[in-house]
Amino acid sequence: MATVRLVYLAAVLALALPAAAESQPIDTPSEFFGFEIGTDGELARYPKVLEYLIHLADRSERVNYEVRGTTTNGHPYVLVTFSAKANLDRLDRLVEINHQLSDPRGLPETEAGALTREGVPFYFLYATIHSTEVGNGQSIIRIAHRLATEDSPEINEILDNTVVLLTPSQNPDGQVLVIDHWYETRDTPFQRTYPDLYHRYAGHDNNRDWFMFTQKETRMAVDIHSEYRPTVTHDMHQMGSDGARMFVPPFREPADPNIHPLLIAEQAQIGMAMSSALVAAGKTGIIQNDRYDLWTPARQYMLYHGQPRILTEIASARLADPLVNPAGANRPLGPQDSRTDFPVPYDSGVWRLSDIVEYGEIAVFAGLKQLAQHRTDWLENFYRVHKDWVERDAAPYAFVIPADQPDPFETYELLNILDVAEVEIHQARSAFTAGGTSYSTGSWVIDLAQPYGAFAKTMLEEQTYPDLRYYPGGPPIPPYDVTAHTLGLLMGVHVDTIDDPLDIAGFELLDAIRPTMTELPERPEWAYAISPTSNAGYKAVAQLQAAGVPVFRANETVNARGEPLAPGAWIIPPTRDASRVLGEVAKETGLVVSAMDRVPEVNGYAWRSPTRVGLWRAPNNMPAGWMRWLFEQYELDHQVMSSLDFDGDLAEKYDVIVLPSGTTRSRIVNGLSSRRHDASWRWAYGVGEEGWEKLRQWVKAGGTLVALGTAVETARDLLSLPIEPVLPPGGQVAATPPGRTGTVDVQETVEPTSIFYCPGALLHQEHDAAHPIGFGMAERWPVFFRFDQAYRLTPSVDIEAEVVSRYPDEADLSASGWLLGDELLRNQANVISFDVEQGTVVTMGSQIAFRTQARATFKLLFNAIFQGPATPVDADTLATLQ
Ligand SMILES: [Zn+2]
Repeated sequence: MATVRLVYLAAVLALALPAAAESQPIDTPSEFFGFEIGTDGELARYPKVLEYLIHLADRSERVNYEVRGTTTNGHPYVLVTFSAKANLDRLDRLVEINHQLSDPRGLPETEAGALTREGVPFYFLYATIHSTEVGNGQSIIRIAHRLATEDSPEINEILDNTVVLLTPSQNPDGQVLVIDHWYETRDTPFQRTYPDLYHRYAGHDNNRDWFMFTQKETRMAVDIHSEYRPTVTHDMHQMGSDGARMFVPPFREPADPNIHPLLIAEQAQIGMAMSSALVAAGKTGIIQNDRYDLWTPARQYMLYHGQPRILTEIASARLADPLVNPAGANRPLGPQDSRTDFPVPYDSGVWRLSDIVEYGEIAVFAGLKQLAQHRTDWLENFYRVHKDWVERDAAPYAFVIPADQPDPFETYELLNILDVAEVEIHQARSAFTAGGTSYSTGSWVIDLAQPYGAFAKTMLEEQTYPDLRYYPGGPPIPPYDVTAHTLGLLMGVHVDTIDDPLDIAGFELLDAIRPTMTELPERPEWAYAISPTSNAGYKAVAQLQAAGVPVFRANETVNARGEPLAPGAWIIPPTRDASRVLGEVAKETGLVVSAMDRVPEVNGYAWRSPTRVGLWRAPNNMPAGWMRWLFEQYELDHQVMSSLDFDGDLAEKYDVIVLPSGTTRSRIVNGLSSRRHDASWRWAYGVGEEGWEKLRQWVKAGGTLVALGTAVETARDLLSLPIEPVLPPGGQVAATPPGRTGTVDVQETVEPTSIFYCPGALLHQEHDAAHPIGFGMAERWPVFFRFDQAYRLTPSVDIEAEVVSRYPDEADLSASGWLLGDELLRNQANVISFDVEQGTVVTMGSQIAFRTQARATFKLLFNAIFQGPATPVDADTLATLQ
């Protein structure tokens, strides 16, 4: 009521004043949207939310509205800035202060102190990166309205002492899809939850992209970080419905040791402020120290950029409909035992949208108040964290990325990632020695004593994950996400750790990252050749094929004007189109193109042109979404498959079908139910037993099937492949004990050797680089493994199997991250190629292209795709290049 009256008064006053843009009356959310925000069954749609934010910006001098770019599906990505007029008028100066405090090199303490008194902390708030978590996207409407209009001591204190940066949705595309679907299915028998990925490529993994920066939305958020250098980021989420009502920091163990301890303390400080504000407002069911940990940078970019990450997770309702305890409305939801980090249980059996909206709003204002009331402390701490980072004086001191790399393209990509994250990169203009090793001109150095050295360190070092168990020798406590992110290992780039101080005075600080300049060789007498070790080769090949240039591979080492190229080198006739494409790709990626003037005495393969690839994409399958992004990046000639393809002859459309992890037999055969999803989802209905049989016959008649991760089981089932899994079902311990972290009192004796557990790590691997599917691979390079499976071959009379990649027969198989039960993996197979009648099947038990982050092993995937349909050619035929 108070708010409404204040707005009414403001409106009356505004009418009495001379007309100014700022003094037009401002609609309340309910006036603007036609319903009270948080009303059961009603959701404000994203375009209308933007209209409202524009409405506020047009009428309030406390609000700036800015479109930062467009999303993957073409929606506006928006930033709204709120503060007192006096602050917005000096916004450039405030931002400049943030920049100065975040790079204290050459900034005297006294000057820093003056800046912390002059500046104000910035609170970066974003809602609904996960689009089915609909409540927070509604909550921010009320928050925006209050910040724009309310004239209370609390709001004025916030406006005077902070700048609020609000991104109303971190994934607008999904918000549109989910809410449109919600309204379209109203009063129908159909499922109300949008059944597909709510981000075109990443789906729910869109908040696992904060170190690879592959998606446009991630890049736009990182741009906001770089431009404004906020003090705190608040990332609003929702969680499941049956636990606590809301999680606020502090986080649970473990924390990445590269996170500054002050940031962890600050997270707790804001979390405590939120918890007490919620409890004071009579909101119950608030939990801290719960399942969310601080390990992977994939979710916490800001923690390496001087800011505590404030994660809030509120229990979900049934989208906008109330959730009623299935056991009865009078049976309370969630745990009922109070504890110090769960002070008051939630005592109702009903949970609704308005609860989510209110909890979210209270938490945000508690966080803002904390910043406003301790304005100078927050800026001092912001400065302190960066000062400690720039004054780092401990081993490792630096990382060196040698100039000479098997894959110049991924090296360039790796440097680019560091550059996007504002890591300073130096390049050597002459040969040098570091840590006792000699490096050539052009090698790159990342000195860790710099503002974002912590980000560089966590990304470039190997992860040692603590062995967290429920009790000694007992089951592992699951991490919230994966445990390894070593960029060099993920991307196939050699990175050296330097434990001695390194003087970088003579090195060049790069202002931009460019691919290594390479020149096309003089037009060869016989053929161009490309080493198989760079991923850029596949980019080149896709474009060559599109231009109608034939592509061959040599199956042994060949000599290119004196340089040996490993087995699998691409051989390309030196046509005008070939020169053009290779020149372009070399410029864009640093690809090294070689020349061969004489015909070698080797056999090889002619790749089929076009090689028509079908990507199986079950609805809401994230690995398929990521793979779609990957195939688009590499411009592979592919189509996303659907059940509709099974109306015709598969062989007429596809040479290769890729089954991403998560493609089960049931998802192929049954798919989505027509009773729960209208005809617009027909593409995702199952193909039935008939379709399953059709797929089997397509392989046997000459198709190539590539299966990854859990889809290997599907392929095994389809074609009776002669392999069997060696790990426990699901590739992990069967169950974790109920109860809380660290307080399980069940004391069974579990032999550590009986546990296999790998929730996401880089594991050592041996590759057969002489096998066409292993072409271009190092003989030894880790694979990413996450709850995956390994296999052993079983006898077969009619199916021939060859192991391309396997786990080495040695004791410690983890190259980075957490693995329990190495002995079960030793000498077991991962990538296997099968001849099934006329067809080919390649299975990859681990997720070779995991979230498109595991780039070092893309070659296995691409080789598998192209090799099946390729034609073997003898040396004489190869010589003709036709
Ligand atoms: Zn979420």
